Amino acid sequence: MCLFCDIVEGKIPSTKVYENDKVLCFRDINPVAPTHVLVVPKKHFDNIIDVSSKEDGALYLDACAKAVSEVAKIEGLGTGFRVINNCGEDGGQTVMHLHFHVIGGVKLTEKMI
Ligand code: AMP
Ligand code: ZN
Repeated sequence: MCLFCDIVEGKIPSTKVYENDKVLCFRDINPVAPTHVLVVPKKHFDNIIDVSSKEDGALYLDACAKAVSEVAKIEGLGTGFRVINNCGEDGGQTVMHLHFHVIGGVKLTEKMI
């Protein structure tokens, strides 16, 4: 049982921004900026460590990177945006299906690094 697998399979609704055969990109239910989109591989990987260890992981990572660019284009984030991946408990990951947050639409100021 995985929340994002259920969203990918359409069992739970989401607001789609972009989709292809490898990724689904949809709006975060609790946005922290005008644009807050989650880029999610359609195949389940727990996190960035897991995907890196799998034979087909590179295909999905490449698809995620390209999907980030598509989302930025669709959302008009030409002046910049932030991509965040939380990994594991100490990294603040709450949904254990690999995903990248694409955040923008406002000048982002809260920087840890
Ligand atoms: P993370 O904390 O990095 O694992 O991110 C998980 C994200 O999923 C959070 O920002 C949540 O707001 C978001 N989220 C949880 N449930 C849903 C949902 N049903 N639809 C869209 N986003 C969700
Ligand atoms: Zn999953």
